[in-house]
Amino acid sequence: MSLMENDVIIIGAGYAGSVAARQFAQANKKVLLIEKRNHIGGNAYDYLDENGVMRHQYGPHIFHTNHSEVYEYLSRFTDWHPYRHSVLGLVQDKFVPIPFNLRSIEMCFDNDEARHIIDVLTNKYAIGCKVTILELQEDEDPTIKKLAEFIFENVFKYYTMKQWNLNVEQLDPKVISRVPVSITYDNYYFTNTYQAIPLNGYTKMFEKILDHKNIKVLLNTDCKEHLKIKDKKIYFDNEEYKGIVVYTGILDELFDYSLGALSYRSLDFEYKTVEGDYQDSATVNYPTPKQRHPFTRISEYKKFMANPPIDKSTIAIEYPYDYDPKAIKGNIPYYPVFTDESKNKYNEYLKLLNEIDNLYALGRLAEYKYYDMDAITLRAMEFVKEIING
Ligand SMILES: Cc1cc2nc3c(=O)[nH]c(=O)nc-3n(C[C@H](O)[C@H](O)[C@H](O)COP(=O)(O)OP(=O)(O)OC[C@H]3O[C@@H](n4cnc5c(N)ncnc54)[C@H](O)[C@@H]3O)c2cc1C
Repeated sequence: MSLMENDVIIIGAGYAGSVAARQFAQANKKVLLIEKRNHIGGNAYDYLDENGVMRHQYGPHIFHTNHSEVYEYLSRFTDWHPYRHSVLGLVQDKFVPIPFNLRSIEMCFDNDEARHIIDVLTNKYAIGCKVTILELQEDEDPTIKKLAEFIFENVFKYYTMKQWNLNVEQLDPKVISRVPVSITYDNYYFTNTYQAIPLNGYTKMFEKILDHKNIKVLLNTDCKEHLKIKDKKIYFDNEEYKGIVVYTGILDELFDYSLGALSYRSLDFEYKTVEGDYQDSATVNYPTPKQRHPFTRISEYKKFMANPPIDKSTIAIEYPYDYDPKAIKGNIPYYPVFTDESKNKYNEYLKLLNEIDNLYALGRLAEYKYYDMDAITLRAMEFVKEIING
C-alpha cells in the first residue's frame, strides 16, 4: 500500500497518536499510524512479566481524572480496576505519607509540637485543602514558616535535585507546585472523581482503540526513515504528501536539530524480582540526598493489580538521567526541562512547524508540555474535532 492512500499519517502510537487515530478513523478518514518502537501505547505500554506482574515498562501509570467525558470515552475500550494510589516517602528515616499531610506531621514531630503545628495550620487553612510549598514558605506565621522549611528540606529539595539535576530555584514553580501539602489525614495521592487502572492493562486498551477498519499500524518504523521536510512541504519516500500529518515525537529531532537540541530529562528503571511483597505502598519516594539513594522512587507493580500474584513481586527502581540519545541509559526523552532557554528554543521550533500547512504537533513531546493521560486524551479528542470541523 502506498503511504499516499492515507488521509492522515500519524507519528507515534501513544495516547496522543492513538486517540487521534481513532477519532479520525471514526470520521471516515484512512489513517496510517507509524511507531518506531515494537509496541503501541507509548509510555503507558505494559505487559505481563515473568512473575505474572503487569509491568509498566516506562514507569508507573495511574489513571485519574475529573473529566467524565474522558473516563466514558476510554471505558469504551477497557474495563477498570478501581485503584486509589498512595505514596510513602522516606523522611528522617521514617516512611511517611506523601503528599506531606497532617499524619506526616504527627510522624515527623513529637506530640506537643505536632499538635501545635496542626492547630496553627488548620486555623489558617480549611481541612481538606491543598497548599503549595511556595505558599507555605511565604507565610508570615513563624510556625508555618518553620514547617515549610522542614518540608522543603526533607521532601522537595533533594528529590527535585535528583529528578531534574537542577536547584529548585532554576525550575518553573509549576513543577514543584504539582505536589502540594495536604491539610488532611487522608493518605491518598489523588483526589479526582475517577481513579483506576485498566483491568487488563493499558496495552490491551490501546489494542481496542486502534482496532478500526480505517486504521493501519506500522511498528518498528522511525518516521525519519520516510519523512523529509523541504521548502515547507512534507515528503514521504520522496513523494509530496498533501494529507494531514500529526507528529507526536520531539521537534528538535524532526528538524534535524537545526536550532540545537531541546533539553529533556530521562529515566532508567532497574527491575528486580523479590519474594512475596517488598514495600507497604505501590510507590515509595526517596527524597534523600543522591549520595545516600541515587534513585528517586521504587514502585512495586503488583500493588496496582486487581489480582496480583502472591509469591513473587517485581519492583522498579527509578534513576533519573540527563537525556542523551546516544547513551546506554537515559536515551528516552521523558520530561521536557522547563527553563526559559529551553522554552524559547521550543517556540522557535514551533515556528518552523507552523510554516508547514499540513503538519501538526500533538502530545507531551511534540508540544513540549507535561500532560497527564486524561489531559492528552482530551486534547487529542478536541484536536481532531477542530481539524474535522475546519
Ligand atoms: C514516568 C512517567 C510516569 C507517568 N505517570 C503518569 C500517571 O501516573 N498518570 C498519568 O495520567 N500520566 C502519567 N504520565 C504521563 C503519560 O505518560 C503521558 O500523558 C502520555 O504518555 C502522553 O502520551 P503521548 O502520546 O503524548 O506521548 P508518548 O506516550 O511518549 O508517545 C509518543 C510515541 O511517539 C513515538 N515516536 C517518537 N518519535 C517517533 C518517530 N520519529 N517515529 C515513530 N514514532 C515515534 C514514541 O516511540 C512513542 O511511542 C507519566 C509519564 C511518565 C514519563
